[in-house]
Amino acid sequence: MHFFKDNNNGFAQSKESPTFFSFSSYVRFDIIRRILTKVFGCNIVMVMGVTDVDDKIIKRAHEMRVSPASLASLYEEDFKQDMAALKVLPPTVYLRVTENIPQIISFIEGIIARGYAYPTVKGNVYFDLQSRGDKYGRLVGVAPGPAGEPGDSDKRHASDFALWKAAKPQEVFWASPWGNGRPGWHIECSAMASMVFGGQLDIHSGGMDLVFPHHENEIAQCEVFHQCEQWGNYFLHSGHLHIKGKEEKMSKSLKNYITIKDFLQTFSPEVFRLFCMCSSYRSAIDYCDSTMLEARQLLLGLASFVEDARAYVKGQLICDPVKEDMLWERLTSTKEAVKAALADDFDTPRAIGTILDLVHHGNRQLRAVTKEPGGPRSPAVFGAIVSYIEQFFETVGISLVKQQCISGDSSVATLHSVVDELVRFRLKVRQYALTTPEAAGDARRQLLLERRPLLEACDALRQDLATHGISIKDRSSTISTWELLDPRTKHQKPGS
Ligand SMILES: [Zn+2]
Repeated sequence: MHFFKDNNNGFAQSKESPTFFSFSSYVRFDIIRRILTKVFGCNIVMVMGVTDVDDKIIKRAHEMRVSPASLASLYEEDFKQDMAALKVLPPTVYLRVTENIPQIISFIEGIIARGYAYPTVKGNVYFDLQSRGDKYGRLVGVAPGPAGEPGDSDKRHASDFALWKAAKPQEVFWASPWGNGRPGWHIECSAMASMVFGGQLDIHSGGMDLVFPHHENEIAQCEVFHQCEQWGNYFLHSGHLHIKGKEEKMSKSLKNYITIKDFLQTFSPEVFRLFCMCSSYRSAIDYCDSTMLEARQLLLGLASFVEDARAYVKGQLICDPVKEDMLWERLTSTKEAVKAALADDFDTPRAIGTILDLVHHGNRQLRAVTKEPGGPRSPAVFGAIVSYIEQFFETVGISLVKQQCISGDSSVATLHSVVDELVRFRLKVRQYALTTPEAAGDARRQLLLERRPLLEACDALRQDLATHGISIKDRSSTISTWELLDPRTKHQKPGS
């Protein structure tokens, strides 16, 4: 499957680092790509176009007194780091505009040769919109009067758009049959996508702001170049991220952004992913701290269920006999419903809702009872549910395993072992405080009274560790387990 991703709404149009809003778009399309690959078995070749030269890069590089190329490579490095932090898989290949100028020039020559573009005496080349007729505007449904590009007086029609821009004084340029200049913005994607995929593309994705004119122009260029009826089969556009209470799209140019590095100080990439999945990729999402906290609660609830179910499988959580047949049926119907939801335009909110329903039923069966083991158990069905839920979330890039184990930070792994030891030690103390087989009657009461400070110390330790995000659960008098209360703690260094 051929997939082309615009990065135009990412770093190429911002000054230092990508706008926060564009990250929801990258994460949403990463989720879609993973679903296509892992749920539906598609073999995806994904190309990302990198606009490493444009008006903004040139202007900013000039202000900073560096070359546009070195500034663009700084942006690109920063972008890749942010993507890795968000667990967005890299494309199969990146294609940079400045490395493909000859291919872009020959693509423009092809369009001129077919009669759909014209060079001017000033050294510009424009796409001739009149020649495209009413085929222009199919993507947006109606043909809106395209806005003319300001400052260009050598066009035949105000709505014609530039394929090649003659170099202005002191601008970076490349030689071409029309003189020194550089490619227009829209032609880059068409030429680079065609380099890899030829005359047909399965999926083209980007933010909603790219529908018009960018994607409309890409279609016009490719369909006249390849002389085909339909170049791109699917255009997927993600909705914007809004900050609650503000009408404007959240973007850096509006000065109301926060960077992803700021964001990840507070929330984990898993929380952001789950937040993105709770709405359709097409819809705009409202960002505010409370919606992010809701996503975090949801993730914690899921992780907590998985922990409990695993404790049940291991025999650490003891409860009354469960309705096993009902759970097996639920699991089967959940799998079908989730797949159907994802097949319906990647309806991730519906898929999440279906899984939460399964978790709800699982939790109802797992109500812990403190009596000692005895009745029939159903570990297999809970094992199957845990395995399915973990696999589903792994598919979309969300790990439900104990958060600290996945950070790759060895000091955190050490901390994990230390907490294990501490909880084991506390359990021994607690057991000693609770069991007094050697005494009876008043003597026993006296012993329990004497050992009471030990129990109080155990409770105090449990409360103290909770303030550090570690939740100890006393499953019975002989079993205690622990889990992280809050995924944020994975960002904390031991001792801090
Ligand atoms: Zn594009």
